[in-house]
Amino acid sequence: MTGSGPTIVAAILGALIGSFLNVCIHRLPRETSIVWPASACPSCGRHLAWFENIPIVSYLVLWGCCRTCRKPISGRYPVVESLTALMFAAAWWNYGPGVLVVSRLLLGCALIVLFAIDLEHHLLPNVITLPGIAVGFAFSLVTEPGWLASLIGIIVGGGVLYAVGEVYFRVRHEEGLGMGDVKMLAMIGAFIGWKLTLVTLMAASFAGALVGLLLIATRRGDMKYALPFGTFLALGAGLAATVGSSLLDWYLRFW
Ligand SMILES: [Zn+2]
Repeated sequence: MTGSGPTIVAAILGALIGSFLNVCIHRLPRETSIVWPASACPSCGRHLAWFENIPIVSYLVLWGCCRTCRKPISGRYPVVESLTALMFAAAWWNYGPGVLVVSRLLLGCALIVLFAIDLEHHLLPNVITLPGIAVGFAFSLVTEPGWLASLIGIIVGGGVLYAVGEVYFRVRHEEGLGMGDVKMLAMIGAFIGWKLTLVTLMAASFAGALVGLLLIATRRGDMKYALPFGTFLALGAGLAATVGSSLLDWYLRFW
């Protein structure tokens, strides 16, 4: 079942779903409906024809510009579509058919949307993170990581970040972490369990500190202007969900 044929179908499905994720990324922060109206050019407002809505292909054919107003179309569209296509193909290749592949892809889609919205708006919408916690836990009843690991994942993921945020607030008297980050890591915990959630947190903190130090070293700003933490959580969770188990095994051998 994991031949190249079904993998190509998975990639095409991924590109189509990536197109929907773009709609979510554009509309969720603006609090408009994600199902209505049909897609329009954000610059001139003209509704798009069906052939302008084909993932990746349309962007290339139109040379990244609107047909009417010639304003450039955000490069985010083909990037998100390609990334989602790649993720679907890789997940299908890796997991094969089953409940786990659905669970991991749902998490992956949520992470892509959260990454893009946090990067642009410094916002992690509740409409993704809160249902995400429930959906992740529901899946854990029938697949990895199991309901107990999922439940502990929710508590540890949310709890650790909440505690860190509280300490930071008491010491620095300013908001270091938002409640959005807390809910996002609780969601990640629900999907991948507490062990991989700790891997996520370590990877995200490490990457965040590294980028922060690079920004300071190149004098582009201090830690405060570093990327929002949700983007690092998304990257960390992606890493944890794919190679986290091997990483954990390797690490625990030193104990
Ligand atoms: Zn236009």
